[in-house]
Amino acid sequence: MGIGLRQKDYIAPLVPAVVVAAVWRIQNMVSKASKKSSAKPKPTDVAIIGAGMAGISAALALADGGHHAHLIERTVSIGGAYVAIYKIFPALECSACVMTPLTSFVGKHLNITIHSLSEVKKVKGKAGNFTVTIHKKARYVDENKCTGCGLCIAACPVEVPNHYDMGLSLRKAIYMNFPQQIPLLAAIDRDACIGCGTCASVCPQDCIMYDDEDKEYDLNVGSIINAAGFQEYQPTDYAEYGYGVFPNVVTTLEYDRQTHPTGPTDAHMVRPSDGREPETIMFVNCVGSRDVRENIQGYSHHCNRVCCSFGLKLAQVTRMHYPKEHCKIIYTYMDMRTCGKCWKSSSGTRSITKTLTSSEAGLLRLMKILILVTSW
Ligand SMILES: Cc1cc2nc3c(=O)[nH]c(=O)nc-3n(C[C@H](O)[C@H](O)[C@H](O)COP(=O)(O)OP(=O)(O)OC[C@H]3O[C@@H](n4cnc5c(N)ncnc54)[C@H](O)[C@@H]3O)c2cc1C
Ligand code: SF4
Ligand code: SF4
Ligand code: SF4
Repeated sequence: MGIGLRQKDYIAPLVPAVVVAAVWRIQNMVSKASKKSSAKPKPTDVAIIGAGMAGISAALALADGGHHAHLIERTVSIGGAYVAIYKIFPALECSACVMTPLTSFVGKHLNITIHSLSEVKKVKGKAGNFTVTIHKKARYVDENKCTGCGLCIAACPVEVPNHYDMGLSLRKAIYMNFPQQIPLLAAIDRDACIGCGTCASVCPQDCIMYDDEDKEYDLNVGSIINAAGFQEYQPTDYAEYGYGVFPNVVTTLEYDRQTHPTGPTDAHMVRPSDGREPETIMFVNCVGSRDVRENIQGYSHHCNRVCCSFGLKLAQVTRMHYPKEHCKIIYTYMDMRTCGKCWKSSSGTRSITKTLTSSEAGLLRLMKILILVTSW
């Protein structure tokens, strides 16, 4: 089976085409190289930076094609944003149903090595023969012995804001992002840890290593794929919306996490200010995109091509959760650009084609909940 066909089976709708092209080029490059009778064989391993949907899809395609893929992920687990969001447009399937089999294949595939808590420090060489230096942060837990049983997490007395839940919940100083994470290993956040020793005393595997240290090592690879993904735009410069000042003004990623069954509010969308159900929700599209104001930092002049789709998806998921008589949804937009997807307008949502004035935004954010459909 050609790699292009297999890639299609795995790939999420928005995985950059560049990754598909990169996998195809690597296959081509290696088959050409093998035809030449060079004295020293070139490495055929591939380093993939970032283990979101794009990196995972590339790793599986390459590994099935006989290459060894090194999946380099800076956080404790693989999956990226795709596992943190809940429903996936346009069919609204559950992200875990799509992603869990893939992360599980990755975890078990003999041709894939996961380098979690790792980043690339240095690259030497040239196409076809690179030396990649990996910096791996200390986990303080023995990766060869930990079974992911979670006893240490239950016993740890320290709680800190959980970044994985966009700071909307608390996690322990020793933690996993979610119970099915790959690799299924606990990690200690040494900035939060008070060194009380409780986790070591309850661990049945004796795998807590308080003296663990960061490591550096080299990988010899023929190709490198950059699949480092995206970061959500933080709209703090848009003073009219009051993001960061008013708790009920949230970004789409923060709101999407609230819809998730393993999220901070058990899939119940509530006002962060008081934990109560909202009476009115307003979506504001294009925040951080298609803007030309000089006082706003970091925005993009261009259309992002995807935020209309995930904004609409969140309005639809909200309507599935709260019926019409329960909560009003107002959706504002400049143009509806649901690129490459077959979207119909969601029923039970009032749509307004305009941008908001400061006073309109001010009124809404004070009373109810305002969701900023941000770009990335
Ligand atoms: C609110 C919201 C809702 C969405 N809803 C949908 C939807 O319904 N349907 C849909 O198809 N898409 C949706 N998307 C888009 C989808 O989430 C993305 O297309 C997809 O997750 C992109 O995957 P990725 O692998 O390119 O990037 P990411 O998921 O960002 O993964 C990148 C990975 O690389 C790691 N990384 C970054 N830098 C480094 C580094 N230097 N070294 C090592 N690792 C690194 C990160 O930790 C991360 O794990 C939504 C996005 C948002 C924000
Ligand atoms: S560190 Fe020990 S207690 Fe914690 S999850 Fe791993 S095996 Fe279980
Ligand atoms: S030593 Fe640190 S991680 Fe372990 S239980 Fe105590 S505070 Fe938690
Ligand atoms: S996709 Fe929609 S919300 Fe995003 S920038 Fe384009 S028009 Fe605005």
